[in-house]
Amino acid sequence: MKLSKRVRNLEPSVTLATAARAKELKAQGLDILSATLGEPDFVTPKNIQQAAIQAIESGKASFYTASAGIPELRQAVVDYFKRNYGLTYNVSQTIVTDGAKFALYALFQSILDEEDEVIIPVPYWVSYAEQVRLADGVPVFVDGAETNQFKVTTEQLEQARTSKTKAFMLTSPSNPTGMIYTKEELLAIGEWAVEHDILIVADDIYGALVYNGAEFTPIATLSEAICNQTIVINGVSKTYSMTGWRIGFAVGNQEIITAMINIASQATSNPSAVSQYAALEALNGPQDSIETMRLAFEERLNRLYPLVLEIPGVKCAKPQGAFYLFPNVKETMDLCGYTDVTAFTEALLNEAHVALVTGAGFGSPENIRISYATDWDTLEEVVKRIKAFVEKKRQK
Ligand code: PMP
Ligand code: GLU
Repeated sequence: MKLSKRVRNLEPSVTLATAARAKELKAQGLDILSATLGEPDFVTPKNIQQAAIQAIESGKASFYTASAGIPELRQAVVDYFKRNYGLTYNVSQTIVTDGAKFALYALFQSILDEEDEVIIPVPYWVSYAEQVRLADGVPVFVDGAETNQFKVTTEQLEQARTSKTKAFMLTSPSNPTGMIYTKEELLAIGEWAVEHDILIVADDIYGALVYNGAEFTPIATLSEAICNQTIVINGVSKTYSMTGWRIGFAVGNQEIITAMINIASQATSNPSAVSQYAALEALNGPQDSIETMRLAFEERLNRLYPLVLEIPGVKCAKPQGAFYLFPNVKETMDLCGYTDVTAFTEALLNEAHVALVTGAGFGSPENIRISYATDWDTLEEVVKRIKAFVEKKRQK
C-alpha cells in the first residue's frame, strides 16, 4: 500500500514523540527525567472531576452532542470572553473542539486552498506548519530575532506578505519561547493584518499563564476591526490542567466558525461529551485553582531560570509566560563538540538520562526547550545532570 503524498511528507509531533520516547525508556527501567511536555503536572481540580462524574452518573454524557459543542458550554465560552476580556461574541461564533489542536486543524482546513500562505513566526509551536501543509497550504516562516525576544516585526511581516498570504499565526505567550508581545507591537500587527485583509489566528492558550507582573493582551481586544479580523483559539488544557480531557474552543467570524463546525461534523462528530461537561464546570465554576497553579509555575520559573544560566555556554532571556525556557545552547554545544542540536538532545537523553525537546522541532537549530510544567525536584535534578554532562564533555 502506497501512503498518500500528504502523509509521506508529514512529520510526527516532535513534542509528543520525545515525551513518548522518555516514557518508553523509563518503562524499560532507566532513570529518565523528562522536561519535555507542555503539560501541567497538577491533577484536574476536584470540582471539575466531580462535574464529570455527575455527568456520567446522570446519563447525560452517554450521547452524541451537537458538533459545535453542548449549548451550555458554547454559552460559557461566550461568557468567558466577556468576563475576562470584555469581548462580545454570539453563541453562533463559537465552536468547542477536541483540544485547541483540532480547532487549529479545522481552521486551516476551512480557510486554505492549495498554495495559500500562512505566515508563521519562528520559533513556532510544532504543529502549525504541519497542519497548514495538511490543508495544502504553504507555511511561510519569518525569523523572530533572539535579540527581540524572538518576536517578529510588522516590517518583517510586510516583507513576507504576498498576494497569497491568507493568515498570520500569533502565539503570545509563545510556545516555545515564553515571550509576550506588547500592546503596541500587537496593535501594529493588527492594523497591518486589517489593512491587507490577512486573518489573524491568535493562539491564546497560554494567556492565563503570565508571570512576575507581565501582561497578556489578547489582540482581539485592540479594536473592533482587529477583532473581526481574528479567530481566537483557546482551551482548557493549560489553564485548568486538563490536557487529557481534550477540550479546546475557537471564536470569531461566523462564516469561518460554521465551516469549522461542518468539518468537525464530518471528522469527529463532537468532542467527548463527558469532557464537555467537565469543561463547563472549569469555565463556570470557582476559578481560584488557576491562580494556585500560576503561582506554582511562577515560582518554578524564578528558581529554575538562574540555575539554567549556570550551565556553561547557555544564553537565555527570561520568559514572561507559558511554561517553557528556550535557551540558546550554541556555545554549550561548541564546548561539548556538537554541531547539531538534535544530536545534542539525544546525547543528553542517552548519556545524562534527561529528556528535553530539540529546538529544531520549533525551527531553531541553536536552542533546546525545557518545560517547567513538572515538579521542582525533577527540574533541579535536570539542570544538575545537564551541567554534569557538559562538564564531562568539555574535559575530553
Ligand atoms: N497551541 C499551543 C501553542 C500549544 O502549546 C498547544 C499544546 N497542547 C496547543 C495549542 C494544543 O492544546 P490542546 O490541544 O491540548 O488544547
Ligand atoms: N503543546 C504541548 C507541548 O508543546 C503538548 C504537546 C503537543 O501537543 O505538542 O509540549
